[in-house]
Amino acid sequence: MSTGVVAVVNAGSSSLKFSLYEGDALLLAGQVDGIGVRPGLKARDGAGAALAVPDLAAAPPATPAEALLALLPWLRERLEGRPLLALGHRVVHGGPKHDRPCRVTPELLDELATLSPLAPLHQPHNLSPIRAAMERAPGVPQVACFDTAFHRTIPEVAQVFALPHEMTARGIRRYGFHGLSYEYIASVLPRLAPKLAQGRVVVAHLGNGASLCALQSGRSVATTMGFSALDGLPMGTRCGELDPAVVLHLMREDGLDIAGVEALLYRRSGMLGLSGLSSDFRDLLDSDEPRARFAIEVFIYRVARGIGSLAAALGGLDGIVFTAGVGENAAPIRAAVCEASRWLGVDLDIAANAAKAERISHDGSRVAVHVIPTDENLMIARHTRRVLAEAG
Ligand code: ADP
Repeated sequence: MSTGVVAVVNAGSSSLKFSLYEGDALLLAGQVDGIGVRPGLKARDGAGAALAVPDLAAAPPATPAEALLALLPWLRERLEGRPLLALGHRVVHGGPKHDRPCRVTPELLDELATLSPLAPLHQPHNLSPIRAAMERAPGVPQVACFDTAFHRTIPEVAQVFALPHEMTARGIRRYGFHGLSYEYIASVLPRLAPKLAQGRVVVAHLGNGASLCALQSGRSVATTMGFSALDGLPMGTRCGELDPAVVLHLMREDGLDIAGVEALLYRRSGMLGLSGLSSDFRDLLDSDEPRARFAIEVFIYRVARGIGSLAAALGGLDGIVFTAGVGENAAPIRAAVCEASRWLGVDLDIAANAAKAERISHDGSRVAVHVIPTDENLMIARHTRRVLAEAG
């Protein structure tokens, strides 16, 4: 008998990703892209085969919320009689209080909306489909899973900026992101590397967005992203760590306004800005252009420096885990980061790295290095089930 299905929803400004899980088994996954322009829907079943999907052209959804409502009847059909237990949503910001996922109530939604100024590019888009589903399908429970929650174990000393303390009280502090990815890695480490799971590990989530997290016995104690998902490593189009005086200079000298600064730092910088070619690491790795090579060199330098910094926060290092699009697939980048981390005790097994083995360091390496595919959606599905079970 079916134990029921959880629908996982990850809404952005112009896209809506969704998946259905029965227990840990993925039933289907898909996404609506181009919302507001020319929406297109694609979906695959759990084995990866393309599924026939409804045509959205007749009534194209203008927002991710409308896209979710348009999808719900089709998703219900795909359940084939199994009960829909709940919708589990990825929500970027849980603020300073939430250290775990929460069952959605109107009060929680209002509270999360007050955090929108802290994440204006994500939070409103995450919340509007929740509100829409609450109105259209009030009987279906919803659970909000926060990207910040996993980092609430970070000590105060690592959460504050050296700004006047009343600003910290207002919420201007480091939150950290990619928490669902780090939590997933922390959840599988005890099985894959039991000794390491109890030790000091830096997880490198290197994708289009990129950050590092220091795990001590599976708990986050430091991370490179801060108040926003802009800080830390350079990313596809985001600059990462930047001297704030650069922003003051550009505003003063070039007359850049808020929208101009935002566009520069979030969309025109990082790998795209450095290379002048592409934000996609595949394009850069394939290119012979000196600027593409240089962009990758900068990325490797910054990742390796970040690992050193987090090793200092941990008081030493027992392991490194690579994950996400670049971390899981780009062997040359892993090799270069490991080479630059040799001083920490990393002894890379070049053949294992090229073969994308699960462990890519030599047996005697003081720092063990692993490649572990992340699964944020599965984490959301598990959380959603657990929150429902706890609510009885
Ligand atoms: P996000 O979830 O942040 O959008 P992903 O974790 O899916 O990003 O990572 C996407 C990035 O992974 C792409 O920009 C691409 O550069 C990189 N990537 C994917 N496959 C490969 C590969 N085989 N080699 C190098 N880079 C890859």
